[in-house]
Amino acid sequence: MLADNLSKVERNIEEACRSVGRPREEVTLVAVSKTKPVEVLREAYDAGVRVFGENKVQEILDKYDQLPKDIQWHMIGHLQRNKVKYIVDKVAMIHSVDSLRLAQTIEQEAGKKNIRMPILLEVNVAEEESKFGLKVQEVVPLLEEISQYPHLEVCGLMTIAPFVANSEENREIFHELKKLSVDIAGKNINNTTMSVLSMGMTGDYEVAVQEGATMVRVGTGIFGERDYSRQD
Ligand SMILES: *Cc1c(COP(=O)(O)O)cnc(C)c1O
Repeated sequence: MLADNLSKVERNIEEACRSVGRPREEVTLVAVSKTKPVEVLREAYDAGVRVFGENKVQEILDKYDQLPKDIQWHMIGHLQRNKVKYIVDKVAMIHSVDSLRLAQTIEQEAGKKNIRMPILLEVNVAEEESKFGLKVQEVVPLLEEISQYPHLEVCGLMTIAPFVANSEENREIFHELKKLSVDIAGKNINNTTMSVLSMGMTGDYEVAVQEGATMVRVGTGIFGERDYSRQD
């Protein structure tokens, strides 16, 4: 079943790419495995998945220990500063940087381990009260500040679009994030590339791909509904 879901998502990404003339290789599928047990991740691994998205530090650490080391772990959830030290040498990318203080902490912890941490800035394009993320107008000022940090590599932007019944309703939001990334790329800021645009989830990843996503974060579409009552 998981393998079937996965091929369906793959086909949809391919089709969305084709519909706008983008090569399929431009888009990375991040399989969002939060709340799912290790056996299920292993099944996905056996079906070929190597890029997993998680939103809790402890869950990343547990799964990291139990699964093969060629997996790329992506931290996509809100990150507390006191937990940065646990994951900075374990994750391939942090998608959810939304403050100067968090960026400073990542810089410090990456420095201690002598690595350069790929990060995305999370932008709350829709300005939803309930969501984390920078306002659009806060992005460039923050970038100018952190472009001096030698242990950070700003690879692009991420957004979580509102939950909507019709994915077309989010097209404008994805379009706006793409536009912002193009504007920023034109400024040639140090340590900053804008090569990654992380947007689109189960309900709207096809639209996100059409609007320029280079990473889509799909959970339910691959793994099925999440059960938050599980206590493990
Ligand atoms: C849970 C989550 C996803 C995946 O959501 P689905 O709707 O299950 O695809 C994507 N991005 C973030 C940041 C998430 O927390």
